Amino acid sequence: MAAISETRSVVDVAIDPRSGGKDATYTYAAQPGMQEGDAAIVPLGNRKLLGYVVRCYQADEDHLGFRFDQLKSVIETVEGLQIPSILMEAARFTADRYLCPLPSALAPVVPPGAKDRLATVWRPVPNADLTGLSPVRREVLRAIDDAGGELMELPGKPLPEGTQRHLKDLQKLGLLTSHRVLKPFREAKSKEKLYRLIADSVRIEEFLLSEGRKKPAQALVLITLQEAPRTGLRTSEIRAMAAVTEATVKSLVTAGLLEVASEDSDATAPPPMPNVAQGLAIAALEDAVKFRQPQGFLLFGVTGSGKTEVFLRAAAEALRQGRRVLYLVPEITLAVQAISQLRRRFGATVSVLHSEMSAGERLTAWSDIRDGRTAIVLGPRSAVFAPIDDLGLIIVDEEHEQTYKQDNVPRYHAREVAKFLSDRHQCPYVLGSATPSVESYYRAEIEELSLLSLPRRAAEAQLPTVQICDLGEGYRAGSAQMFVPDLADALQGALDRQEQAILFLNRRAYAPFLMCRDCGHQWMCPHCSVSLSFHRGIKRLKCHQCGYQESPPESCPACSHTRIAPFGIGTEKVEEALREQFPTARVARLDRDVVQRKGALEEILSGFRARELDFLVGTQMVAKGLDFPWVTVVGVIAADVSLNLPDFRASERTFQLLSQVSGRAGRSTRPGNVFIQTFNPEHSSVVFAKEHNYVGFYDWIRSERDAAQYPPYCRLINITVAGANRPQVTAATADLAQRLTAEAVDYIGPADCVLERLQEKWRRHLIIKLPTDASLGRVKIALNGYEPAGVNVTVDVDPYSLM
Ligand SMILES: [Zn+2]
Ligand SMILES: [Zn+2]
Repeated sequence: MAAISETRSVVDVAIDPRSGGKDATYTYAAQPGMQEGDAAIVPLGNRKLLGYVVRCYQADEDHLGFRFDQLKSVIETVEGLQIPSILMEAARFTADRYLCPLPSALAPVVPPGAKDRLATVWRPVPNADLTGLSPVRREVLRAIDDAGGELMELPGKPLPEGTQRHLKDLQKLGLLTSHRVLKPFREAKSKEKLYRLIADSVRIEEFLLSEGRKKPAQALVLITLQEAPRTGLRTSEIRAMAAVTEATVKSLVTAGLLEVASEDSDATAPPPMPNVAQGLAIAALEDAVKFRQPQGFLLFGVTGSGKTEVFLRAAAEALRQGRRVLYLVPEITLAVQAISQLRRRFGATVSVLHSEMSAGERLTAWSDIRDGRTAIVLGPRSAVFAPIDDLGLIIVDEEHEQTYKQDNVPRYHAREVAKFLSDRHQCPYVLGSATPSVESYYRAEIEELSLLSLPRRAAEAQLPTVQICDLGEGYRAGSAQMFVPDLADALQGALDRQEQAILFLNRRAYAPFLMCRDCGHQWMCPHCSVSLSFHRGIKRLKCHQCGYQESPPESCPACSHTRIAPFGIGTEKVEEALREQFPTARVARLDRDVVQRKGALEEILSGFRARELDFLVGTQMVAKGLDFPWVTVVGVIAADVSLNLPDFRASERTFQLLSQVSGRAGRSTRPGNVFIQTFNPEHSSVVFAKEHNYVGFYDWIRSERDAAQYPPYCRLINITVAGANRPQVTAATADLAQRLTAEAVDYIGPADCVLERLQEKWRRHLIIKLPTDASLGRVKIALNGYEPAGVNVTVDVDPYSLM
């Protein structure tokens, strides 16, 4: 009969990948009562690291693979830091779905910055025998008793060495215990003040048009708060949204333009009456909340159709049921209106997570949320992992935005995690968009999501008229110009009527490349396989991938001639053309190059708002965000920039971008005119955007994706191998191909990436196509142990881009 081998209680502890390595899960002897999700201090080499228990079990030596005398013990557990079990499951789901190690998937789940906030608490053991103890040590114990029964050593504030020695000795004698705890927070929820605009809008407008010109930062705060009328924002939120300092906020209070708001929600303003379509959507969501249905909804409504009101009513129902709400937004800076309306309706129970929070503020918010002190949590992608128990509703606003997909490990999509949470919490989730992602609309079509439509704009404003302008005509006639005659006329008209225009081009710099007119030589980045962009203002050639820069050449290194010219157009050249063609116009440019100068963003936005500027040219930065009521003309300089990207999402992204940019025109009662210049006037992305016809666009792109077998008709996994040594990269992808073949997994490639060289590294990739319902099991087996030397491997499940 085989001897029954001895087993012991052990725990697997995942350690922060930054200190423990990416697959850092280690086994330790457990302490009594340990549970999954517990935080613990464990030894690793000669370091003591903070980790989280991911598994508790009994194991014998065979199972462990080493002898018990080599098994190290958990040093101590940390009080007050446990990860809620649903979030442990969410991390597991993420690791599983996105093929990443569990410690990496835990990174967005664990309390932020806890490592630096751990205190040590010393507590006397009750009823201990103190005979024979020296008077000094008795005195130490008595002092602890007097101080309320415990002594706390705060992080960064070590106790005097002598005291420490006594404490440790007393611990050895079994008279004291020590515990690690999270440093306690201030008692109540953060007492940051709420600020709101004064009610006198005439005075605010006066300030914006006069003094505000000299104080652009203050003006930007006012413009931002104008989207949140009569409700408050906290200082840190204003900081995050308007990128200003606290001093700016205070000076506005001194100037009598901002006032301190009360925490109570403003009960004097009754919520607006929903229209019929809103009413139907609200009823459907309220029912799903009430009956705890883990059902997904797609709320499809044009801009201004009142999606937020539907969200707010559904949220109110969740609160009535005593449950809580998660409200995700693509970017906090674009969520001013949503935050304002939530505050107005629900008051102090709303918690906003944003990038301007310090590590301490983040951890405070984490604890507030976990301990149930907030009812509604609004935040960007990462907020999907906020420790909320008993969720009653999850909202994913502007669900088509790419920021919901994380572009480093773990490469999760917040929408998919939301779906997982909806199932675990037994609550509905609702995705909102005017231009839903193809994946989501498809899910609605096959009834995985319930479609709720808001077909009409709630307010007065009309959709702008859109005109497509064929750039080919000018080229064929030999009279190519930056602005087609219709757009030029419209710009002149806006100038004459003292209205404003926005010109959009999704490419910065003066020109995307320089070329020798004699031999065709192009200037490339020495580290990447991309051409260097020509920045005329600062006279530099720059790589937009890695940041490398050099001076523009005097002569061609290939033929030594000097006829070197910039080719193609960037925002800088558009700016120049505007100044030449409209000498009286006041023009500014807004792109990543410009905003590098501190204060530039505030200056330009407040100047534009004050109508000190006539034309604003820029990249995506001008496509989103603030409302400018005097903008009546929007010109898209070349829709082809995003259309021609070699990526399966190029058409979808172009349609979304064009729809978004068009929305910048005619935001108030003045009608808007949009001009889309393109070499592809017949392209469906352009034509359907002109017609504001999302469903038409969807029908078209769906058949394209179906024919080419791209999502939503399959799932993709993009595996990229990058390394300095090209043969190594090639060999690594060949090995990967073999492994996948052995597991009968279909793939395309391997092939060089579109960006085949980036920052000195050669890049090759392989794309796996799976049926939508396929499990990743065989892919996992193929990747198991795949760690080729000298290269980096990136596994991107459901990639956003394949470049
Ligand atoms: Zn040349
Ligand atoms: Zn480069």
